Amino acid sequence: MTTPPVASVEGLLEGAEHEQVVFGHDRDTGLRAIIAIHSTALGPALGGTRFKAYPDLGAAVQDVLRLARAMTYKNAAAGLDFGGGKAVIVGDPAAVRSEELIRSYARHVHRLGGAYLTAEDVGTTQADMDLIRQETRYVTGTSPELGGSGDPSEATAVGLFAAMKAVAAHLWSTDDIGGRSVTISGVGKVGSHLAALLAGAGARVAVADVNAEAARRTAEMTGAETVDPDAALSRRCDIVSPCALGGVLDAESIPKLQCRAVVGAANNQLADDSCAPALAERGILYAPDFLVNAGGVINISEEVGGYDRERALARVAGIGATLTQVLQRAASEGTTPLQAAIDRAEERLGAARVRAAGR
Ligand code: NAD
Repeated sequence: MTTPPVASVEGLLEGAEHEQVVFGHDRDTGLRAIIAIHSTALGPALGGTRFKAYPDLGAAVQDVLRLARAMTYKNAAAGLDFGGGKAVIVGDPAAVRSEELIRSYARHVHRLGGAYLTAEDVGTTQADMDLIRQETRYVTGTSPELGGSGDPSEATAVGLFAAMKAVAAHLWSTDDIGGRSVTISGVGKVGSHLAALLAGAGARVAVADVNAEAARRTAEMTGAETVDPDAALSRRCDIVSPCALGGVLDAESIPKLQCRAVVGAANNQLADDSCAPALAERGILYAPDFLVNAGGVINISEEVGGYDRERALARVAGIGATLTQVLQRAASEGTTPLQAAIDRAEERLGAARVRAAGR
């Protein structure tokens, strides 16, 4: 264990609402990891391990605190009995990954005694989760042979598809997505599955990717049209689906949108929360990212007590009903869907805290 350098103290203070922040250090393997548990009010903290190079340790601390907090809201809004947590392994995975480093990290997770359950995230793989499983049972998303649910991307796409149907019902009074035009920006693991689901339902799908080969492959598989990645978000269509990077909706991009709704997988699509009212003012329905991309975490939450794929995907599809409630609440309270989703999560968290205080 090591204490953070002065550069990260500010980040720690800013995250004073976090229940526990653990620094894991192992001289032999070069491991530098931070595990942040934001809240266990609803249950053990569940969230992935990001493996990434950061400019300095302070940046890593800030990232893990922000990500752990977001998981609290994602899990609460999804109706899961899990709290929020996240971990980062600091360093370029291509340069520093080793079996011993991952195992050493897993032992840090184990020492938390189940307060934090880890999972795959950017920079980590299912193979890493399988390796972690050899050191601790506090891991999800391992391969099916080890009792896990495997790659969460298909489940995430199933959740997005259900959310798009709910949006269609809200905007056009029918959840039939057939004939609707949808532009997907980023057709990696999630976007390509989503394109297939939409094409199967008769939607008119356009796909864009900076990796031209990924776009071509998805287009070939689904019959989608390929479009220029630089112009994808501002394309005239019914629904735009950001499935690549966060921060794509900002003061510059929002005025250029020509869609009725945004429903995508990417985390933190809004550059900041003021973008939600800006989208509403333009008459664009923004489906909160943390609500509609929760399919992956709902899927792994189903591993507890024995994973059944059919049951898990049915629960994931419930994102549609959850989003409908959030959209109705936003309409009746005159607020944005983002605010309504945050309020919904905070009510669950508040009730859990009251229950805990009464025990
Ligand atoms: P991925 O890396 O498999 O796919 C991302 C794709 O976006 C890649 O094909 C990449 O070439 C493309 N891309 C990158 N920059 C782009 C740009 N500027 N314009 C167009 N395309 C671009 O990732 P994924 O697993 O499909 O996840 C997509 C997003 O959804 C990520 O932001 C991820 O954090 C988020 N997410 C994923 C899951 C999941 O289950 N995989 C769950 C929740 C959220």
